[in-house]
Amino acid sequence: MSFFKTKDEHPDKWKDKYFDLLDSQEQFEKEYKINQDLLCKTIIRFALATRGFNTSLDPHLDRIRELLKSGLKSQSLRHELEVFSNALVAIEDHPVTCHLDSALLFDYLGHVYPKHSSELKNIHARYEKREFINPQRLFLTLSELLESDNQPILNTDFSFELALAESKAISQQMMHLLENADLPVIFVEDGNQLKLRLQSGHSLASVFEDSVSLLLTIKRHMLDEQHETADFLSRLTEQLAELGLTAAGVNIAAEDAEKKRCILDRDVAAQMADLQKKSASATQLEPLKQLVNIRLQSISHQLQSHNLQEQLERENAQREFRNLLQKIREMETETTDLQTRLEAAQRRATRDPLTNLPNRLAFDERLTDEIARAHRYNMALTLAVWDIDFFKTINDTYGHKSGDKALVVIGKLLSRHCRETDFIARFGGEEFVMLFPETIVEEAFNVTNKLRETIENSIFNANGERISITLSCGLTEYIKGDNNESIFVRADSALYQAKQHGRNQCVVI
Ligand code: GH3
Ligand code: MG
Ligand code: MG
Repeated sequence: MSFFKTKDEHPDKWKDKYFDLLDSQEQFEKEYKINQDLLCKTIIRFALATRGFNTSLDPHLDRIRELLKSGLKSQSLRHELEVFSNALVAIEDHPVTCHLDSALLFDYLGHVYPKHSSELKNIHARYEKREFINPQRLFLTLSELLESDNQPILNTDFSFELALAESKAISQQMMHLLENADLPVIFVEDGNQLKLRLQSGHSLASVFEDSVSLLLTIKRHMLDEQHETADFLSRLTEQLAELGLTAAGVNIAAEDAEKKRCILDRDVAAQMADLQKKSASATQLEPLKQLVNIRLQSISHQLQSHNLQEQLERENAQREFRNLLQKIREMETETTDLQTRLEAAQRRATRDPLTNLPNRLAFDERLTDEIARAHRYNMALTLAVWDIDFFKTINDTYGHKSGDKALVVIGKLLSRHCRETDFIARFGGEEFVMLFPETIVEEAFNVTNKLRETIENSIFNANGERISITLSCGLTEYIKGDNNESIFVRADSALYQAKQHGRNQCVVI
């Protein structure tokens, strides 16, 4: 056949031929398409129907169904069918030992081929009675029955068929998901409604749509709850920090209070640990919030009562402390008074009230100490004893008061001309004593003699009359083995000699 115009042919004839050819081509393509769809459907049905018969075949069947969705032209499909065919041959020698659950298969076939329902029921019953020696036999029987169907569902849209074939599986998957989903309490009822709708064969599209909407609502709810939890935990952290500050601010000094503080710390720590444990295991926010609030209130209450108790105790302690302080101050004042009085008494006891010089008692004590020192350190010590010459006459001539005045003045003169380390005392009456530590008698003699001369040359006022007074002095140096009495006796002997030799002189023994 040539499409080019010849000189014998009429132009219209060629045109008709061309259109006839186009029609037949169109018809051919249409039939090809129908056959292709039919083949696709058959393979899909086959794949669905045999799924589960042998687990080693299932992955092949799934892949084939997926590839078929893009038509028969796929290279991969061809390859997959070859692999599947080999897999089928491989299992022929190994009869299936387990009896498969065929309910889904027969349900599906009954739904797609309603007019064969009685035959399908019959085959199903035979299968249940194990009349087929292997699944291949069952499949063969089913194929024969369905191939006898001269009215394949040609007018049905292929994608709709595919969706219908898979809707059961999707429905079951959704049911499985809903049953296993851990829905928040407030959405459990919605989930149950969806399950009911799935069971009662509602339109899968609307159930699916509602399921998606439920899932979105749950997601929003979870997000809200997450935010709420974050807010709540942040508030909780703030409150705990505040509590921590309050607890840390508790200032306790007393030992007893420290013990109470330890008990409080332990109680609070236990409550916090319990809270932490319950928080970790809590799955619901609301009960957790309630629990945390109760615990916080309890801890807060404990801290408050502890602080109150502690404040009372602190106030008591402060009051007692103030009382004690007052008592201590009073005692201090009393002690100071006593000290002053004691010192005065001591002064009175060791001082001569007229001349304000140490008295005989003080002299005795000092002499004991100095003798001990001289003995211990092997040092020199000289004792001088003074006596006013003819003092009785002064008293008698100018009166006792003038005598007293003379005693005061002579006492001042003697002490003024003494060295810091020397010691002077009024021994009694008109007698004075001097101690020269670390001083040999010759040195002491020089001192006393100068003193004697100074007093001799001094003018005393006695009732307006200018008079001169002289003193005699006896000196002696400490000899090992001396005591207070022995040394004094020697000095007094020296004084006696001075008196005997005419007074107003110093004599050394
Ligand atoms: P002599 O040179 O031998 O020491 O002669 P004297 O007169 O000093 O000796 P005597 O012991 O006889 O006299 C001491 C007098 O000193 C007697 C007493 O009245 C007087 N006298 C003693 N104590 C005091 C006193 O505290 N005040 C006054 N004014 N006189 C006193
Ligand atoms: Mg005398
Ligand atoms: Mg005298």
